[in-house]
Amino acid sequence: MDRNPFFEDWTTPFGAPPFDRFRPAHFAPAFDRGMREQIAEIDAITGSAEAPSFANTIEALERSGRLLERVGRVFFNLDASNTDAALEAIARDYAPRLAQHQMRIALDPGLFARIASLYEQREHLELDGDQLRLIERYYLRFVRNGALLSNEQKQRVAAISERLASLYTAFGQNVLHDERDWALILDEGDLDGVPEFVQSATAQAAEERGMSGRYAVTLSRSAVEPFLTFASRRDLRRNLWEAWTARGAGDNAPIIREILALRAEQARLLDYENFAGYRLDDSMAKTSAAAEQLLLQVWRPAKAKARAELAAIEAAARADGLNEAIEPWDWRYYAERVRQAQYGLDEAEVKPYFALDNMVQAAFDTAGRLFGVAFRERNDIPAYHRDVRVWEVCDSNGGHVGLFLHDNFARSGKRSGAWSSRYRDQENMDRPVAPIVVNNNNFARGDTAAGEPTLLSFDDVKTLFHEFGHGLHSLLSRVRYPSQSGTAVRRDFVEFPSQIFEHWMSTPATLRTYARHYRTGEPLPEELLNRLVAARNFNQGFATVEYTACALIDLDLHRAAVAEDFDSGRFEQDFMDRMQVPKEIGLRHRLPHFQHLFAGGGYAAGYYAYLWAEVLDADGFAAFTEAGDVFDPELAASLKAIYSAGDTKDPMELYRAFRGREPTIAALLQQRGLAAPRAD
Ligand SMILES: [Zn+2]
Repeated sequence: MDRNPFFEDWTTPFGAPPFDRFRPAHFAPAFDRGMREQIAEIDAITGSAEAPSFANTIEALERSGRLLERVGRVFFNLDASNTDAALEAIARDYAPRLAQHQMRIALDPGLFARIASLYEQREHLELDGDQLRLIERYYLRFVRNGALLSNEQKQRVAAISERLASLYTAFGQNVLHDERDWALILDEGDLDGVPEFVQSATAQAAEERGMSGRYAVTLSRSAVEPFLTFASRRDLRRNLWEAWTARGAGDNAPIIREILALRAEQARLLDYENFAGYRLDDSMAKTSAAAEQLLLQVWRPAKAKARAELAAIEAAARADGLNEAIEPWDWRYYAERVRQAQYGLDEAEVKPYFALDNMVQAAFDTAGRLFGVAFRERNDIPAYHRDVRVWEVCDSNGGHVGLFLHDNFARSGKRSGAWSSRYRDQENMDRPVAPIVVNNNNFARGDTAAGEPTLLSFDDVKTLFHEFGHGLHSLLSRVRYPSQSGTAVRRDFVEFPSQIFEHWMSTPATLRTYARHYRTGEPLPEELLNRLVAARNFNQGFATVEYTACALIDLDLHRAAVAEDFDSGRFEQDFMDRMQVPKEIGLRHRLPHFQHLFAGGGYAAGYYAYLWAEVLDADGFAAFTEAGDVFDPELAASLKAIYSAGDTKDPMELYRAFRGREPTIAALLQQRGLAAPRAD
């Protein structure tokens, strides 16, 4: 076998992963050696004859597991962005083994004794603020993992973690396989109403599936939504909708039941009433009641707004000769008609102004104006797929900040949705380490053979900016310790840097400069821009309902008692009935493919985090509009401090330092068009 690149120093520019050298066979030996090395490092800490100190315990822990970290980052990023049968098999094999390894460290009594002793003396150790917080976080993390339990209970929480890791892997692989195996294959005659740019993307998708000359609508969101918006063939919209919302339905129900039951058991072992209580105890919201209260504050006005939207949609459908009830596969199609009528806005007229490359440039330049960073493409650094572009990020003095990988197109072997991740975290414990960040989107690629660029919808551009905001949180990180780097903050704070960045996408300043027609290069006409801005709250009832319903059912699921006969399909239906979720809208993610909750643990009882953070981002962006300059340098500098702080400080403390006060919900209600009309 060739030499294993994980056992060598990487001589690529900036020590980027040598993607051209990785083979599936390299991962298992690297994982194995990585785990062995970390166990030896932990044994050295616990076996030390010296009394515990910050350096010989906490810093030594931060330094442990370097090899495992390196192989894990490469493996799990590739498995998400560009997987195949070989990587999937490794994921099934190693997910439980890695969970077992982590729990072995988390439940090591000798290690916890040292951490607890430091925690007790922490006020007398003359530590800096970031070090003090690091000790407190370590202590809490160990306790939350079960360090205070009896041996028998410890064995059980370890077994639960291991089993959950396998279930998460299986859930995600089932969804991916359903998405890979299904497409709506069409001929030219089936495309009534579908504008040229959507045809071009579906032609490209058919081409990639070896069906040149035909059209394929795949199950990625950015392929499905345009077809549902434009296709006048109701039967085809229905076929597509049914396949889209059935993803995971074949295999994932028993997995959901087992995951929920294990989480409930884990929470009880740790002395919480339910998993939501356990999860939210370590969050800004603190309790599921607080999160729910925020959700309900938008739920009622959102439903009222959606009812008004439905009335307009029904009128449009009647005018079109449809005399049946509106179904979920009709909403986007008739909403688009209503939007055209009310605002004179036609998605097909707008979209040619949103070419992917221009919007990427807009995101880069916005980061430049706000935070003083610049992006230069590097063609000398290998990526893992020909679609991926590699950028070097520099500061205003030309100093190296990090690398940014942009992976924008949908393809089979790539998880759906959009996400930001890292191949390497920024840190500066022993020496400065620059971050390597990746953004994944699932845009439908334009027909490149025909010279058509990739055109984005307004929502796609928002997603692009959102993930880029996460990317900046990782890139601008300026911390000392690896486990405080960038996005390592509370889950309900991590969406703040991403969501506030979305605001710059829709400001007139950005639209005027970057929204240019892909053929003529003409800027977006001013009156079209005005109509776009005027229509900003259009369909927000729908968008708020489909999101908030998911956030509410997530909390309900993680507070529920899960008996043997628990049926997630029935639970979903009961929830829809009880909350009176409009059936014409439904859930943004149905449970069998709700990957936030079941393909990992990160957003379980945490899907509310988007709205929680929106209170902050709406209120925070208002600071810029109040200042009369969305690029106000002073405000930008104090916002940058949040992106740079990672988890070195309490999130609300960071927010107050930026805004001068705590947030209020007013700006959020305003931004979603849900504010109660003024009494005067
Ligand atoms: Zn996000």
